[in-house]
Amino acid sequence: MATKKMLKFIERPQAQPSKRAVAERAEDFLEISRPYILAKAEEQASRCSQCGVPFCQVHCPLQNNIPDWLKLTAEGRLEEAYELSASTSTMPEICGRICPQDRLCEGNCVIEKDFGAVTIGAVEKFITDTAWDMGWVKPIVPVADRSAQSVGVIGAGPAGLTVAELMRVKGYAVHVYDRHDRAGGLLTYGIPGFKLEKPVVMRRVQRLIDAGVVFHQSFEVGRDASLAELRARHSAVLIATGVYRPREVDVPGADAPHVLAALDYLIASNRAGFGDAVPDAARFDAHGKHVVVIGGGDTAMDCVRTAVRQGAASVKCLYRRDRANMPGSAREVMNAEEEGVEFVWLAAPARIDGPRVVAQRMRLGQAGADGRRTPEPEPGADFETRADIVIKALGFDAEDLPGAFGAPDLSVTRWGTLRVDHKTMMTSIPGVFAAGDIVRGASLVVWAVRDGRDVAPAIHNWLRAQLPQQNRKAA
Ligand SMILES: Cc1cc2nc3c(=O)[nH]c(=O)nc-3n(C[C@H](O)[C@H](O)[C@H](O)COP(=O)(O)OP(=O)(O)OC[C@H]3O[C@@H](n4cnc5c(N)ncnc54)[C@H](O)[C@@H]3O)c2cc1C
Ligand code: SF4
Repeated sequence: MATKKMLKFIERPQAQPSKRAVAERAEDFLEISRPYILAKAEEQASRCSQCGVPFCQVHCPLQNNIPDWLKLTAEGRLEEAYELSASTSTMPEICGRICPQDRLCEGNCVIEKDFGAVTIGAVEKFITDTAWDMGWVKPIVPVADRSAQSVGVIGAGPAGLTVAELMRVKGYAVHVYDRHDRAGGLLTYGIPGFKLEKPVVMRRVQRLIDAGVVFHQSFEVGRDASLAELRARHSAVLIATGVYRPREVDVPGADAPHVLAALDYLIASNRAGFGDAVPDAARFDAHGKHVVVIGGGDTAMDCVRTAVRQGAASVKCLYRRDRANMPGSAREVMNAEEEGVEFVWLAAPARIDGPRVVAQRMRLGQAGADGRRTPEPEPGADFETRADIVIKALGFDAEDLPGAFGAPDLSVTRWGTLRVDHKTMMTSIPGVFAAGDIVRGASLVVWAVRDGRDVAPAIHNWLRAQLPQQNRKAA
């Protein structure tokens, strides 16, 4: 039964954490939201209506036990709230920061329409940030010694890190291979600091290192070892390499040096944030330049807001559909607009002509096979816009993994993503599993974590089955 502390949504209005002033946040790459203080987190948690069927939980990809950890928070039992929150997620403070809550948990909160949703993401972040500060986040302690068997994880993004943690907890030896020099995948080199500060990611990685997970950074599978070599080295292998082939802007002039791929641009910016020397730094620096970003998803939003922080003279986002049909999070569009980004809806590039983008006005035609209205050019309505830098942010597809890994027997879908058995998440190669974007196509961090949580028990079962019969019980 709900306690007296709960159901306060009528007298206590929704209060998301306050945002730093635009002028202040445009000067740095720190997160824009200020953290809750304890009283605010308790107050906001107490707005939960403790529904019999909690739609927030149903629509959270991790099925986080949201009503219960909100109740514990409202009662001031934060350490218990943390334990519960951590029981279904390997990175709750990260999901709390960057999940598109308006489409997931909060978007399905029953009080959303009339009173404003419970601020689930902000409370989730508060709980686990507090746990880190208070020392409640304990070291990983393996429950058994299974180190005679090892798991090789290719890719240190959220899917790979989740599997590394869960397999280490089981006691296996775990080796993570990543072509970048730092772990974290897109958490580290894609998503900018103003959404997710890097120490938040690095402390998760350090916890794994402290638990004995071995990281092999700057190790590219396909260049430094073939998949078969890794398979021979480890009892099981997980492929969690994400999707990195950028979709191209297919117009004349798109190969000019001032036309940048979104991820190259974001990686350069994130590297600068770490204090690294950035090769060709001037090319990736928008300071004083007019910037045009092409695309309407979250990557485009990250690019426009990065350009603002680099001190661009102007930042425009060209998107071929309208605001209502934009794939990016509405919250991020609002943040970008507050920061001075100009959105040019219903516009697509026709050619890039030196420091100018010549664009076509579009209109929305009939709905296509995907149910979305197809944009088509509005005749005779071209326009030009100044662009010292053009950034292509049209999304990503899978790379050719069978080719890159020297593994022609690795089965892929027609989109190039890995084909897996839907129960075990094993690929066409025995003992080789897959998770995250390389299976789903470009998706979300929370789904990568979910996949990691699903595939880890499947790998464990498979490894047990490889043991001689008499050793299985002990394992
Ligand atoms: C700019 C941007 C912003 C985003 N913002 C959000 C957001 O706000 N919220 C959200 O939920 N999601 C966001 N996403 C999506 C989210 O980041 C991904 O869905 C998620 O990171 C996928 O996790 P993953 O573990 O499958 O792969 P990744 O995070 O991509 O990690 C894959 C890792 O594999 C490594 N790798 C690849 N190939 C090899 C190889 N051959 N050898 C060795 N290592 C290899 C890569 O270096 C990388 O470290 C964003 C994505 C982008 C690009
Ligand atoms: S993981 Fe994401 S969807 Fe689930 S409760 Fe947290 S913020 Fe909401």
